[in-house]
Amino acid sequence: MSLKVLFAKKVLFVSSEVFPLIKTGGLADVSGSLPSALKHSGLDVRILIPGYTAVLNQLSELRTIATLTNLPVIEKAELLLGIITETQVKVMVIKSAHLYEREGGPYADMNGQEWLDNPLRFGVLSKVAAMLSGEHSPLADWKPDIVHCNDWQTGLTPAYMKLTEKSEAKSIISLHNMAFQGCYSPAWLTTLNLPHTHFSIEGYEYHGQLSFLKAGIVFADAITTVSPRYAQEIQTVAFGFGLEGLLAKRGHEIKGILNGIETSEWNPKTDPYLCKNYSASNITGKQKVKAALQLVSGLNVDADAPLLGVVSRLTHQKGLDLLLPCMQGLLDSGCQLVLLGSGEKDLEQEFMALAEANPGKISVTIGYNEPLSHQVMAGCDLFVMPSRFEPCGLNQLYGLAYGTLPIVNATGGLADSVIDADLHNIKDGSANGFVMIEASAEALLACIHRAVALFKNDKTTWRKIQKNGMSQNLSWDNSALEYLELYKTLIS
Ligand code: ADP
Repeated sequence: MSLKVLFAKKVLFVSSEVFPLIKTGGLADVSGSLPSALKHSGLDVRILIPGYTAVLNQLSELRTIATLTNLPVIEKAELLLGIITETQVKVMVIKSAHLYEREGGPYADMNGQEWLDNPLRFGVLSKVAAMLSGEHSPLADWKPDIVHCNDWQTGLTPAYMKLTEKSEAKSIISLHNMAFQGCYSPAWLTTLNLPHTHFSIEGYEYHGQLSFLKAGIVFADAITTVSPRYAQEIQTVAFGFGLEGLLAKRGHEIKGILNGIETSEWNPKTDPYLCKNYSASNITGKQKVKAALQLVSGLNVDADAPLLGVVSRLTHQKGLDLLLPCMQGLLDSGCQLVLLGSGEKDLEQEFMALAEANPGKISVTIGYNEPLSHQVMAGCDLFVMPSRFEPCGLNQLYGLAYGTLPIVNATGGLADSVIDADLHNIKDGSANGFVMIEASAEALLACIHRAVALFKNDKTTWRKIQKNGMSQNLSWDNSALEYLELYKTLIS
């Protein structure tokens, strides 16, 4: 990390998931690595997260620093302080056995059923974040200048800061995915001690419900998205999920900052999950990783077979239903597929049926598996990501870093990070992947065929495109600097 900026302000980074403590998706990756990058730039950063059992079990040096009172429903909770061993970033944890210490995920139980008290669980998270920056903070020795909120789970924070906590700190809400907004019955207003006066179209009301995300967008001092393209897209009907009008009104204030990747976690040179490490200048190890992946996945070990990879939530957003009708054509041209993911049951079943019908050619693993996700990322030739919308996307960035050329739809952060291998871009040295012309099965098949033709027939160009991606600076360096500039502007 090369940022050397003296701007010793306090930042409270509020998130419902943080890698490596707890992760369901890209939000955790960002919440793990951005605070660490900001800390390196000289900021005094603390994360605030709910005390899920997994979090309590993994943090070192945990100690109580305050008792939180006047909270909705539970009245009291403990505020703990610990440290993430890997990054040395300080983390404040809300310890409430009643709210957070349960078997299951951060948002849902073991059967995928959303916790019914999520408005309370994340209302309390938002309330505590606001209290810590407010007039009557329970912490005497640490008060943030900036409160950086992330997604709907923290959306009430800016509202509490302005309406009930008399906070002088500046607030930011980062939008990682507009599809999730946290809309609940207005009965929660009373439970969460939110003023009814702001339950209106100008406030946190959305079609008769209390919207956590809208509260964040209305009351935050600044709004960011996780890519520049997504900042534009969410101001349109197709991507705004009903909030496009409100977002367009604040359009000139929305700043898109492309996510970086944690290069200590995602680096083929040092990745401990790979049987052989490799780099842009010595890529031969990638062949060994491919063979090992084929072997462990039950695929025919064949260096010449174009190996396609997928690591993803299996939902409509990710567009993987478009891959299903392509598979026969791809198998006919000698491709193999390795897929790791979970989500919609019908999609899971269709991919599993395909794998059963095509032993040695298609491998499907349903579930969440961190080591395998690294091996897929490294061992494949191509990474398929035909998302219908993608606020940033991290997997295509991992693909670039690992010489696994991404095949993407031109949306959000995918459009901002993948440059199509057309003749012009190959010639000027900018090509780093393949971009579909639209989100359809036909366009996906055509795009993969184009990539496969290059893989089979022009290894020199293929290597050049791999090198282009692998030598990009995909780290947080530049993006953290942009957040820093935003913090400075807000404070000044
Ligand atoms: P999103 O947050 O929308 O799911 P992103 O591409 O931003 O998508 O980030 C997804 C993150 O979750 C990546 O780090 C990816 O490797 C990881 N991931 C997704 N599904 C799995 C899985 N089944 N096993 C392991 N990691 C996964």
